[in-house]
Amino acid sequence: MTTKQKTRAAVFAFTIAFLAPEAVSAQTRGTVNPKPLPTLAKPDDPATPAKELFGRQSMPAPVEARVIGFYSKGCLAGAKALPINGKTWLVMRLSRNRNWGHPSLVQFLERLAEKGPKVGWHGLLVGDLSQPRGGPMLTGHSSHQVGLDADIWLTPMPDRELTRREREEMLATVMVAADRKDIDPEVWTPAHTEIIKAAAKDPIVERIFVNAAIKKALCREAGNDRSWLPKVRPYYGHDYHFHVRIKCPTASPDCRPQEPVPEGEACGKDLDYWFTDAILYPKPSPIPSKPKPPLTMADLPPACRQMLAP
Ligand SMILES: [Zn+2]
Repeated sequence: MTTKQKTRAAVFAFTIAFLAPEAVSAQTRGTVNPKPLPTLAKPDDPATPAKELFGRQSMPAPVEARVIGFYSKGCLAGAKALPINGKTWLVMRLSRNRNWGHPSLVQFLERLAEKGPKVGWHGLLVGDLSQPRGGPMLTGHSSHQVGLDADIWLTPMPDRELTRREREEMLATVMVAADRKDIDPEVWTPAHTEIIKAAAKDPIVERIFVNAAIKKALCREAGNDRSWLPKVRPYYGHDYHFHVRIKCPTASPDCRPQEPVPEGEACGKDLDYWFTDAILYPKPSPIPSKPKPPLTMADLPPACRQMLAP
């Protein structure tokens, strides 16, 4: 291997390691009896990972709702919980206590859930939003830190209320075919396109992440109304849920917006990269990649410290 190749391999390995926590993680089950986390010996130690601190917050900061920072580096004040049962939605993995978001996100989810049956989607199974005070998490996700991201399963809500145990242990249906080049026609339905389209058409939505194979299907099935396609971005993983990200709320001056989505539908040739062998069948790197150090409080906006006060 030449030096150039080695550098390229290292950069690729780093990219995969960096993206991995959210990108390629398989589905994890929860438990109906989660064990409480042990008390931290030195919570004030500047080296303490921020996820250890925010992962121990069980209630929101009781102040006006405010987003602080960026989707993958921030926290949330005055979060609201999405109720665990709605007429047309159910929250999954209750043991994680991640059904908290900015009130605008909760309202969006309620709006989308109501639209669901009108577009042929029986109801939403809702995965992770954020922790009660946002911030980094002990497991999964590099984003979902500011109460503006939500994962929605690509499995419709069943006709009955799921039990606590089912909400922890049920697995979502993977929508991508075994060769990863398209959706699995055995499980994909027109209603899948319709529910993602309904989400993308909501003006509050900033972007949506789906697997490239799903994006390919959406491009094919969009028909003449294609205005919503640019918001739907191809990404690693995301083969059993779609990830909705909403815009910075107006009353949150400390919310850092993301670069606007690039112009164009991101269909056809724009998807080719995602179906190359390097992406579909990544080779393990011969150079072991160093894991990224976890975020500490110094990496987050200073105002996030106030979120840790009792
Ligand atoms: Zn997500």
